[in-house]
Amino acid sequence: MIRILKKSVADKIAAGEVIDRPLSIVKELVENSIDAGASSITIEIQKGGKSYIRVTDDGCGISAEEAELAFQRHATSKITTDKDLQHIDTLGFRGEALASITAVSRTELLTKTREEKVGTKLVVEGSQVAQKIAAGCPDGTTIIVRDLFYNTPARLKFMKSDATESRFIIDFVSQVALAYTEIKIRLVNNKNMLFTTQGKGDRYKNIITIYSKDIGEGLIPLNEEQEDIRLEGYISDPGKTRPTRKNQIFFINGRVVHSKVIEKGIDQAYSDKLFEGRHPVAFLFLHTDPANLDVNIHPNKREVRFHDEVIITQLVKNTIRNALQTKDSIPAMKQESVYSLKQDYNKPQEIQKKEAQVDIKKLLSGLREEQELPNLKPVAMQEEVSPFEPEKKKIKPLPQTVPLPPKPFDFDQLTITGAIFGTYITAIDETCFYLIDQHAAHERVFFEQLVSQYKQQETARQSLLTPVIFHVSYSVAEDRYSWLDALNQMGFTIEAFGPKTYIIKEMPVFLDIKEGEQFVQDFIDNMEDNINLESFPALEKIITRACKSAVKANDYLSQEEIQHLINDLKSCENPFSCPHGRPTFIKMTRYEIEKMFSRV
Ligand code: ADP
Ligand code: MG
Repeated sequence: MIRILKKSVADKIAAGEVIDRPLSIVKELVENSIDAGASSITIEIQKGGKSYIRVTDDGCGISAEEAELAFQRHATSKITTDKDLQHIDTLGFRGEALASITAVSRTELLTKTREEKVGTKLVVEGSQVAQKIAAGCPDGTTIIVRDLFYNTPARLKFMKSDATESRFIIDFVSQVALAYTEIKIRLVNNKNMLFTTQGKGDRYKNIITIYSKDIGEGLIPLNEEQEDIRLEGYISDPGKTRPTRKNQIFFINGRVVHSKVIEKGIDQAYSDKLFEGRHPVAFLFLHTDPANLDVNIHPNKREVRFHDEVIITQLVKNTIRNALQTKDSIPAMKQESVYSLKQDYNKPQEIQKKEAQVDIKKLLSGLREEQELPNLKPVAMQEEVSPFEPEKKKIKPLPQTVPLPPKPFDFDQLTITGAIFGTYITAIDETCFYLIDQHAAHERVFFEQLVSQYKQQETARQSLLTPVIFHVSYSVAEDRYSWLDALNQMGFTIEAFGPKTYIIKEMPVFLDIKEGEQFVQDFIDNMEDNINLESFPALEKIITRACKSAVKANDYLSQEEIQHLINDLKSCENPFSCPHGRPTFIKMTRYEIEKMFSRV
């Protein structure tokens, strides 16, 4: 039943302008359709929504008696008392949207409840009811909004171009389609159908339909439950990153939100895996008891406050970290590149051979140079769960298809088969073939060992028979207390040997002398002015940089050295990328190989 909220309740609602552009109208109307229990919603816009917006749903409809009331300020069927504000489980609750929309446009409502024989048509212009008649129509509600801001020319001027306004709307509807996979969502722009989702609960399919195959293929599924919070969705491998956060979309109980708290969790999870300024793709869906949240802090409800922010950041971080440990997170070799070897089938053999070599080399070395990595495997695991029962569940929306949490990668199943180009180790397990970048792997191992020695303050040192001597500048010598301590804590014993000369007497056991010497040099070179090495992130950054050059490239490792490296990698916290975010592993499944040889 729609009622006008008591003033005392209305006053507690974060007030403000709801309607500032066509997007806000689409948002309010679509949210109303979702709240009305629709299983199908069609959104149609023209000229960026400035001239025409139509939203049609098959939800519960509004009865003839209540139709006019729905357009009044603070008229809502969703809450009654201020206590209801503490556990909002609908998208709307202010009872303001329809009133605000009719104030600035010509609005038409066509609606019918299941119980009624005929529906109602209501025309409202600038808040005045212009027409109310009985009308034949299907169950559900259609709202048409024409000539937005026709009576407020100032706001008309603030709108952007049609293309920009429609982009806002398309982005929003795309996000809704991801969150509400059980609703069939259709979007029509200037009479062109942009997309229709199936409404069968398959989120992964919706991502591919709405975003791109490319984005879809780089995704790793997540699914984690902790007390009354559930986090699921998809994130990209560290190899598939973007320069902005545009492809990070968060939903909390079905609401698209901005959330610094979630962003922080993501950043922490990827902290040592990404180059600065790069961001993973993330579609994250958080479901929690509405009592854990405050959605009533901003008029457009885009901001949500968690009562316990630390729990959320931790959950996001840990869930992503676990997902990044799985086999799914190893980038796959790009089939297209391998296919290219066979395309020139008809060329003379020598040319073919030459090109094939160049091609493979390019493919492999390119992986290290370029940031964009080959496609990941599409996520194959999907599991049906029981259908969503609206009466019982408070938390919404519950998607009907939830990815299975992937299994962790098992290093013990790896068999080393050799090494190529003095750079890449080759290995297999039951289902995949892997190339492991020896240099990246070494960097990862050194990095984690140095950090762990530093943290534990108990170091395994080896004494050098011939101590290594090195020289620094006066200013660096002046600053020696900061770096001497840090290096000492990592397992180097360094002593002054003159005003700017030092000797390394001991170094960590896992480094050979050349590596240790290079590391110390680079560590010192990478110190910036005024750097505070007592701050761990600052220290970590320098270790990261110094590890890079400490490791030898193009070095033919013996069988034992390879095995040793793989064992060390296995004990790493983040074995699948070097500290700079490049992958250590890429894989190709046996199935893909067989497909390329046309065996399957
Ligand atoms: P709110 O969504 O905050 O309650 P609105 O102004 O958006 O406020 O809508 C007012 C009321 O109109 C809603 O509470 C609901 O009862 C009714 N209503 C609006 N849109 C629809 C719809 N598409 N289907 C059924 N009822 C609707
Ligand atoms: Mg509403």
